Amino acid sequence: MSDKPDLRSLTEGDLLDFCARHSQPKFRAAQILDWLYAKRASAIPEMSNLPRSLRDALSSDFTLQLPSVARAQGSADTTRKFLVKLRDDQLVETVLIPASVGLYGDRSERHTLCVSTQVGCAYGCKFCASGLDGFRRNLTSDEIVGEMILAEREGGQKINNLVFMGMGEPLANYANLLRAIRILNAPWGLGLGARKITISTSGLAPQIRQLANEDLQVRLAISLHGARDEVRDRIMPVNRKYPLAELVAACEEYQNIRGRLITFEYILLDGVNNDLREAPPLADLARRCHAKINLIPFNEVPETGFKRPTDEQCLKFRDELGRLGVTATLRMEKGHDIDAACGQLRLREMREAD
Ligand code: SF4
Repeated sequence: MSDKPDLRSLTEGDLLDFCARHSQPKFRAAQILDWLYAKRASAIPEMSNLPRSLRDALSSDFTLQLPSVARAQGSADTTRKFLVKLRDDQLVETVLIPASVGLYGDRSERHTLCVSTQVGCAYGCKFCASGLDGFRRNLTSDEIVGEMILAEREGGQKINNLVFMGMGEPLANYANLLRAIRILNAPWGLGLGARKITISTSGLAPQIRQLANEDLQVRLAISLHGARDEVRDRIMPVNRKYPLAELVAACEEYQNIRGRLITFEYILLDGVNNDLREAPPLADLARRCHAKINLIPFNEVPETGFKRPTDEQCLKFRDELGRLGVTATLRMEKGHDIDAACGQLRLREMREAD
């Protein structure tokens, strides 16, 4: 495995600096970016309009290597799951949801990609498969960008909606996440609008505040799953570090600064958070943060011991929120487990691969 950085981790500014250091005109940086993101070059020697000396200089300082697909599931008109092998053979999952399915089963116009940001996860949410496996490492920015390039190549279509809801806690890999987003978003990069990018977090309050002050119009989703500390403490260890009062204050600050709608993800776990008495505190938090609520019936992961409520219980919970005057969406059908937010998929993939 090469220990050189990947060329796709560089921004336009980095490349301009590199060209200046090698006495190359500025337009060479634009040519390199064109090879990387328009022509999707897979090797530095392919960049045929660059002088040999520049290609040699790039090759001596950088590598250019996409992750690869170790395994794929699904067909073109259904959710496709890719088990992605990184350069050190670590595995993450990337999930492609075509417009005909929609992220929330809503048959939208969006071709959505769900991207991982860490190998494993240190946050240990009790209902989540990724937490079961522990934390291995952060993805680099080029690996995150590589997930999108790979998915567009495999899926044969442009991605126009990207959610950081795969394996890992995105805000725990803040610097690499932000660098990747700038490359995904830039006109010289993959040109994906920032408003088409959603970061989902389990509730890292300081990083939410930091994100509020970035010059990026990304969307924010909170994996809430409990509207009282007692419930959240039970299923999400992060709540002991950043209890609801602190998380909600950070969300309010994000909302005030960015003026953007926040989404609360709420996985319905039978006997844990689906009692109708949980609806009023959830509605209160949603009002305070100007958040909409996505209710997600739990897709059962046997190792977790949690159960999915009945359809009737899920509908009652949604209706109770409606009665309390807040908007909540509920998707009932099974099998499109992306909305389990943060990686139930990999464990299943790994189990099936065994
Ligand atoms: S839900 Fe997200 S933050 Fe929690 S353990 Fe899973 S991947 Fe980590």
